[in-house]
Amino acid sequence: MPLRVRLTLWYGTALALVLIIFSVVLYVITARSLRDTVDESLEDTAMTAVRSLEERGFLPLINEEELLSQFPELTRIDKFFQIFSPSGTITIRSPNIKQHEVPLSRTALDATFAGQKIFESAKYPKEPPLRLISVPIVYRGNLLYIVQVGTSMESVGETLQRFLVLLVVAIPIALAVSLAGGWFLAGRALRPVDKITLAAQRIAAGDLSQRLSMPAAHDEIGRLAATFNNMIGRLDTSFRQIRQFTSDASHELRTPLTVMKGETDLVLRRPRLLDDYKSVLESNLEEIDRMTRIVDELLFLSRADMGEVRVESLPVAMESLVEDIHRQAKLLAQDRNIEVLLGTIMPVVVQGDDLRLRELLLNLVENAMKYSYSGGKVEIALLNDGREARLSVTDYGIGIAPADHKKIFQRFFRTDVARGHTKKGTGLGLAICAWIAELHKGRIEVKSDLGQGSAFTVVLPLAHPTA
Ligand code: ADP
Repeated sequence: MPLRVRLTLWYGTALALVLIIFSVVLYVITARSLRDTVDESLEDTAMTAVRSLEERGFLPLINEEELLSQFPELTRIDKFFQIFSPSGTITIRSPNIKQHEVPLSRTALDATFAGQKIFESAKYPKEPPLRLISVPIVYRGNLLYIVQVGTSMESVGETLQRFLVLLVVAIPIALAVSLAGGWFLAGRALRPVDKITLAAQRIAAGDLSQRLSMPAAHDEIGRLAATFNNMIGRLDTSFRQIRQFTSDASHELRTPLTVMKGETDLVLRRPRLLDDYKSVLESNLEEIDRMTRIVDELLFLSRADMGEVRVESLPVAMESLVEDIHRQAKLLAQDRNIEVLLGTIMPVVVQGDDLRLRELLLNLVENAMKYSYSGGKVEIALLNDGREARLSVTDYGIGIAPADHKKIFQRFFRTDVARGHTKKGTGLGLAICAWIAELHKGRIEVKSDLGQGSAFTVVLPLAHPTA
């Protein structure tokens, strides 16, 4: 069922319930207050009658004719009265009771004997109900008479009937008008949702550059549209990145394949000396190594993306880690004529994964050596400022233009200068480094300029900060 129909139905049901309860309560209160008014007026009349009897000293009771001649208007008023003897027999009654006798009830007799006045309702067939009050007249402790005043409830009944008809007609009209209003309002409130749905369908059809036109209001719909746009924006970016990544990866893998195919084709064109085959195979092996490295690193990154790489969280003494890597790097640097030096090394303990941190540092040191000139110098330093560990690798090589400082952490990004400088490198190392640093709640800072060398600093939180 559409939301608009559901909203209107809910609203209609709630309103109908409220109206019905309200009407019932109103009806009951009105009926009761009308009856109270009648009762008050009956009591007034009865008390007047009692007073006038008292004034006459109770005796002797006048008869009907006398009464009529004294009060001719009695035939016209809407009340009648009767005076009963204590035995319950009528001694006198007003001439406007015509239709039939209205005898004193047992309850009225009992109540008046007990000295109390009492209200009663009486109903005779084919007649509107009567309302009665019976009041005892007591003189020196003896019940002398019982005065009863009564009136027809016809006009009250009619008033209530009219009121009921009014309610029965008015409630459905009010309900219909409100339902129409509710339907209209629900439609208006939901119109932006329809718009969003249409736009979302267009976007889902493949056009991720589309955005929803934002309603000006910062209400629920406005926030929905903003969230939606935000989500599409992120999807757009990640789809772009995936496309870029796939094309970069294919490109990076195609280059060595092209080289291998070219060389193999060439050497197979005619018979060669053994040495020629050997050198082609050696070159192919190099390319295969390169491809293996790319595939390994890609595999690692994709497992990292999926959260499948196991990572320890233990205290790691960084200074001994740095010394190990320094030793390893010195061996690698020997045949490249590069000097790897240790700068200031402070004792530092960070919380994390020893293997990953080694990988991170080795990657940075290998880069520094790779992008140094022959005879260059690479320096490793480890500082501790009480809050953070600062592990830096500095070289005096080709450098990186400031515009590229952010891009070098993207997968497959390699600067043109770097490509010109060496064929080695996959463009994935720094992406892995950034991932490892992030994993340790740290970051990598770059200070570098073209031809000026580079300084990469890994900033990591200490296991036990002292400042
Ligand atoms: P690569 O395998 O190409 O070194 P990285 O992800 O490690 O891949 O580095 C990305 C790019 O950042 C490199 O291609 C190079 O352009 C630049 N770069 C990284 N380290 C250095 C450095 N020490 N000196 C100059 N450029 C660097």
